[in-house]
Amino acid sequence: MRIILLGPPGAGKGTQAQFIMDAFNIPQISTGDMLRTAIKEGTELGMRVKDVMSSGGLVSDDIIIALVKERIQQADCQQGFLFDGFPRTVPQAQAMLDAGVHVDNVLEICVEDEAIVQRLGGRRVHEGSGRVYHIQYNPPKVAGKDDETGDDLIQREDDLEATIRKRLGIYHDQTEVLVDFYKNMGEAEALKAHAPAYHRVNGIGDVDEIRTKVLSMLK
Ligand code: ADP
Ligand code: ADP
Repeated sequence: MRIILLGPPGAGKGTQAQFIMDAFNIPQISTGDMLRTAIKEGTELGMRVKDVMSSGGLVSDDIIIALVKERIQQADCQQGFLFDGFPRTVPQAQAMLDAGVHVDNVLEICVEDEAIVQRLGGRRVHEGSGRVYHIQYNPPKVAGKDDETGDDLIQREDDLEATIRKRLGIYHDQTEVLVDFYKNMGEAEALKAHAPAYHRVNGIGDVDEIRTKVLSMLK
């Protein structure tokens, strides 16, 4: 089972990714989480991407493609994987096709921009695991603490309103085209055999209701 989660920042990809991982027993490959870990660990990669990430820009395709290609070679990806936040540009999507990495399902989560600006201001994350909460819509059991480990939750530095708006602009300019990219694969003779099933879910509403819809679409 290979799945791509598409949708703007804040649509709920990371939130739903946790449920999909559990249901299908596949790892989540979140390029955002991988990059944040590299920054935290102070690796060479982390130093290269730090400034562009905190300003809300995209990391270069070369870096991202190399990172993902290496990650999917690992043993835990044998039975499948869930891409969350990748691909984000046409060159990234094309690089996977060129490498013969095909996916079974693309799931788009739709949320309009204004709802996203509100949501991301309240996002809190557990750095170690990528678990994500919202102070109002999806609160942890104990305020400010991760449910499983009790560690402190953090607010991401790119979750500031001006940066969120910049990220949304980049989504509309560079990532949204992937909706048609994957939808149209079924129509191109050469690509037909590898075209993924395409699903679309409204990301506004109760987290559990969306989870039920998502899991039934992927069954
Ligand atoms: P969100 O879903 O909230 O936008 P992510 O955790 O997916 O956040 O990404 C955070 C940041 O990491 C992005 O704004 C970008 O700087 C970088 N990033 C993550 N994935 C990619 C990617 N596939 N291509 C380029 N940059 C990426
Ligand atoms: P993405 O990975 O697409 O950037 P996240 O899963 O991190 O999105 O969700 C962004 C924020 O919105 C988080 O604070 C999360 O708890 C919250 N959230 C996720 N799904 C919903 C929902 N259905 N309704 C309200 N808030 C949600």
